[in-house]
Amino acid sequence: MSKQYDLIVIGTGMAATTAAAKCRAAGWNVAIVDYQPFGGTCALRGCDPKKVLVGAAEIIDRVRRMQGKGLGEQDLHIDWGALMAFKRSFTDSAPSKIENSLEKQGIDAFHGRARFRSPSSLEVAGQLLASRHFLIAAGAKPMRLGIPGEEHLITSDRFLELEELPQRIVVVGGGFIAFEFAHIAVRAGAKVTVLEQLPRFLRPFDPDLVSWLVDRSRQIGIDLHAETSVEAVEKDAVSYKVRTSTDTSGWYTARRVNEDCSGYKILIEEGSERILGAHLIGPHAEEVINLFALAIRANLSAKDLKTVIWSYPTATSDISYML
Ligand SMILES: Cc1cc2nc3c(=O)[nH]c(=O)nc-3n(C[C@H](O)[C@H](O)[C@H](O)COP(=O)(O)OP(=O)(O)OC[C@H]3O[C@@H](n4cnc5c(N)ncnc54)[C@H](O)[C@@H]3O)c2cc1C
Repeated sequence: MSKQYDLIVIGTGMAATTAAAKCRAAGWNVAIVDYQPFGGTCALRGCDPKKVLVGAAEIIDRVRRMQGKGLGEQDLHIDWGALMAFKRSFTDSAPSKIENSLEKQGIDAFHGRARFRSPSSLEVAGQLLASRHFLIAAGAKPMRLGIPGEEHLITSDRFLELEELPQRIVVVGGGFIAFEFAHIAVRAGAKVTVLEQLPRFLRPFDPDLVSWLVDRSRQIGIDLHAETSVEAVEKDAVSYKVRTSTDTSGWYTARRVNEDCSGYKILIEEGSERILGAHLIGPHAEEVINLFALAIRANLSAKDLKTVIWSYPTATSDISYML
């Protein structure tokens, strides 16, 4: 015999618990289901835990900005392990608090993955539940990239559980969570690179403001690359290698002469960032290669080349995007 409800809500995040509470307050019989600890992304794996980490990063940032402006040199650093323990003091207790609140409201809670069995029933952990209405508030899943080595990537869920912060981090994607995590990690002492396949970071946001944020992010040491797709992730004994490709067909140098065959490979020494080699194809490759020859001869690093202000629009002004 299945239990009968007016509404069954799938998920226990903000969307689910808000709708469940309102319908219950209106007198409906309501059940709620989740296969993960109750609370959803925001409370357990998103906004709230992230904001705890942001709190520490903001202090580091603020102190650094005030150095020489009334504050002397400070040996201030983030103790990542202790910060994670502080984060857990919020997230560990959240599921039971949410379950208690649901119980007080008279909402039946079920643990397990919900699977529809008919238009008016679903199954959770072997129990059949029937309802007049269903609300699917199941949230979102990380996108699959479909690239070799994808299994080596971790998602934001795992980032928020890292017991140790890696020394070097590559963030795939240049949206707002990527920027938030990059700013946290760089202030906690990691070297961070952000790769975005589109020409612009933070695409839904105002381009002028984004360009200021991109400049500021570079100033604090975040290495940002737009128009860079991750093609593969390889693991060797000590580290991971991220293979990327850059779509140069939208670059002005190539577009203005209607050439879509252009690209490059720049070889950069790990650690020192010294330029070791360069392969170029496309408009003005025969001129631009001379600058790489000079850079190799003069032992210049990728950073040296990136900080040059190139005249624009010229083929050499593309160099800052190549590195
Ligand atoms: C790292 C990160 C930081 C973020 N920071 C912010 C922020 O600062 N501000 C902001 O506004 N937003 C932020 N967001 C976005 C915000 O967390 C989400 O928009 C919000 O949590 C979505 O809520 P929801 O209720 O729709 O789904 P969710 O909170 O994702 O809940 C869905 C629930 O459904 C469950 N579920 C899925 N399928 C089933 C099934 N078949 N059976 C049973 N249960 C199921 C899941 O286990 C999950 O618990 C952030 C997101 C992330 C990942």
